[in-house]
Amino acid sequence: MFKVGIPRALSYYQYLPAWKAFFEALGAETVVSPPTNKAIFTTGNSRAVAETCLPVKLFFGHVISLANRCDYMFIPAMRSLGKKAYYCSKFIGLPDMTRALVPECPPILDPEVDLNKGRRSLYRAIYNLGCHFSSDKSKIKKAVEQAEKAHLAYRKEMSDRGITPIQALDGGKSYLEPDISPSLSVAVVGHQYVIYDDYINHRLISRLQAMGVRVFTPEMAEQEALDIAMTKLGGAPHWSFEADIIGAGEYYLEAKVDGIINVAVFGCGPDSMMIDMVRHRASKFRTPFLHLSLDEHTSEGGLVTRLEAFLDMVKRKGRICA
Ligand code: SF4
Repeated sequence: MFKVGIPRALSYYQYLPAWKAFFEALGAETVVSPPTNKAIFTTGNSRAVAETCLPVKLFFGHVISLANRCDYMFIPAMRSLGKKAYYCSKFIGLPDMTRALVPECPPILDPEVDLNKGRRSLYRAIYNLGCHFSSDKSKIKKAVEQAEKAHLAYRKEMSDRGITPIQALDGGKSYLEPDISPSLSVAVVGHQYVIYDDYINHRLISRLQAMGVRVFTPEMAEQEALDIAMTKLGGAPHWSFEADIIGAGEYYLEAKVDGIINVAVFGCGPDSMMIDMVRHRASKFRTPFLHLSLDEHTSEGGLVTRLEAFLDMVKRKGRICA
């Protein structure tokens, strides 16, 4: 049985159930890298050029950790998932960058995901991917259907139950009812690969929960609601991530959360444009806003201090308005 490696980084948080369903329906086994740790962080960092953003450096670390455990590495070239809404250039160039920087990587499966070229072109790319494992056309078609079904069920589970991708992926095992009923509600918006990677964000979500905060993240809302909030504000998106940042920010501001935390990555071009819009809307709603910019030097102590100061401000504002 062929083993397909899936790095626990970037699009993993969004699409793992779909990818797993697809490969397993074709008789392949999927192998996922472990959660980010110091070794992954260090090896990824050492391969990439300094200007590369932290999530992409981590991605290389995850690829290296899987390199001798699989027959193929799955790294789709993500270009666009909507009409004229693009992924950043680093996503597009990911398979080529990996080939250049991680020579020990096994053969890369790199279907091009570009909805701008139409659904036919996407299905052709997926079909060619399936041909690595089966020559049976109907089997590949069934695998695509199972992948779509798994993706919809995953997205629905998160919005219906108000849980994160991590909780949905581990079957709810890490979901704990809070001991105390939270007194504050805060929305954390940003890329999934930043807000759910506990190594780089220093356990932001569980830390907030331990501080008595009810945390909301983009996946806890229905995709359609995020799309509507995003379009109302900025029209058709230019970046594929706008629903998770601008849409989620607006959605939770309208839902009257007590505060918004925008977690971004230092040096990320798309983030720098989207953050200003969320910050501007938060000031219109008079909702406290915190911008956290993470890089490889972000210290845990500094992050905790900023969180505590922010929550003090949120509480003070609540008292003034009460
Ligand atoms: S969107 Fe930003 S953080 Fe994400 S891969 Fe591109 S540059 Fe890096």
